[in-house]
This record gives sequence, C-alpha cells and structure tokens, in this order.
Amino acid sequence: MPTTVIIGAGISGLQCASAFLRLGHTVTILEREEDVGGVWLRYTAFNVQVPREFFRFPDFACPPELEPEEYPTGRSLLRYIIAYAHKNQLYRHIIFRATVTRLHRLSGQWQCFFDLRTDRGGGGGGGGGGAPPVAGRGAGLASGGFGSSADGFAMTPQQHRITADYLVVATGLHSAPYMPLIDVRPGGRFWDSDT
Ligand SMILES: Cc1cc2nc3c(=O)[nH]c(=O)nc-3n(C[C@H](O)[C@H](O)[C@H](O)COP(=O)(O)OP(=O)(O)OC[C@H]3O[C@@H](n4cnc5c(N)ncnc54)[C@H](O)[C@@H]3O)c2cc1C
Repeated sequence: MPTTVIIGAGISGLQCASAFLRLGHTVTILEREEDVGGVWLRYTAFNVQVPREFFRFPDFACPPELEPEEYPTGRSLLRYIIAYAHKNQLYRHIIFRATVTRLHRLSGQWQCFFDLRTDRGGGGGGGGGGAPPVAGRGAGLASGGFGSSADGFAMTPQQHRITADYLVVATGLHSAPYMPLIDVRPGGRFWDSDT
C-alpha cells in the first residue's frame, strides 16, 4: 500500500488527505498546532471575502446547524473544517504538535523529520488533544533518541522521522518557506512536470 505524508492540517492538507485515502494510500498528516483548521484557528473574528457557496469543500456542504453567515467568520469556518475532518475520519491520521523541520529524499522515498511538543494544553474542539501523539501512528515512523538516523543525519531525542512514498506540503501562505535538499529546478533530477 503506498504511503503518503502530508504536512499541514488546514483546508488544503485535509482535502489532500481525503483524496489520498480514497486512492487507498496509508496517510499521515503532521500538524504543528493542536487541532485542524490552519489559519482559521487564529483568525476567528475575521470573515472570508467571498460568499459561503464559493468557500466550501466540494464534497461536503456546510451542515445547516453550523449556520454560517453569508460571508462566514473564521469561527464558523473552524467549526465547518472540524466537521469535515470528523466526517472523513481524518483525526486518526493526524499527529498534532509535530513541527516538520527537514525533508530529505533517500532511495526513492521521502524522509520527513519532525519535532514533537510534549505539552498537553488545549486540544481544541476537534479531538487534537488526548490521543497518544506518536505511539502506533503512521507507517514508516522512527523515533529519535538514537544518535543519528540511518542516513547519517543527527537526531535529537525530541526528533522523529517518518518515511513515505509521497509527500504533500500543505503549509499555507503564512509560513516561512523551506526548500528541501533536492534539485527541483527545471532540468533537475526531480523535475518531471511542465507545471
Ligand atoms: C482573514 C483571512 C481571510 C481569507 N479569506 C479568503 C477568501 O475569501 N478566499 C480564499 O480563497 N482564501 C481566503 N483566505 C486564505 C486562506 O489562507 C485560505 O483560504 C486557506 O484557509 C488556506 O488553507 P491552507 O490549508 O492552504 O493553509 P493554512 O490554513 O495556512 O494551513 C497550513 C497548516 O500547515 C501547518 N504548518 C505550517 N508549517 C508547518 C510545519 N513546518 N510543520 C507542521 N505543520 C506546519 C500550519 O500550522 C497550518 O495548520 C483568507 C485568509 C485569512 C487569514
């Protein structure tokens, strides 16, 4: 079964997860916050600039009981995103408090290194808190505590590494960009697209 790691549990990461699950992949989402929602975890009092019918999941209309305004607030959107994650049973695939720090490509696989926060505050409305953060979660998972990873990268005791066939970076517009150590320039070894 192909394995896919998705970084980010905002709108984009959750939809990608649903799509890959439908394809039969084993999916793990790494999210640094304590719940799904991305920007809408913080911008609760702001509204989107488009009417609600233009800002929705294609396969999940907003349930009437959530009563979104014509231009939904972040608070309404967050409830809607959490409902989407529950409906598609995505929480079981998410490792929260996991900040990805480094990506590496080795022997045709993605290696994704992440730090795990062990504080247990909050947990949000959706189920981010409570579950054991890493134990038994995700295929291809290795925990730190040993001096270095198999490919020689140093790992601290807080670091973990997950290996996957496919990688999706869904970290949004509001994060500092990070370029992995691969050649993705046109003509480079991993460039196989006209896009
Ligand atoms: C006030 C406001 C109004 C907006 N209005 C509109 C609108 O009208 N129409 C529209 O199309 N868009 C609008 N947007 C843009 C909005 O950002 C997108 O619509 C959408 O929510 C982005 O989703 P995303 O999943 O791509 O990114 P995000 O919601 O940013 O999610 C990215 C996720 O990745 C996680 N992450 C980042 N780095 C790491 C890391 N290293 N390790 C682990 N996790 C990480 C973050 O914690 C976050 O949860 C608006 C944004 C704001 C703030």
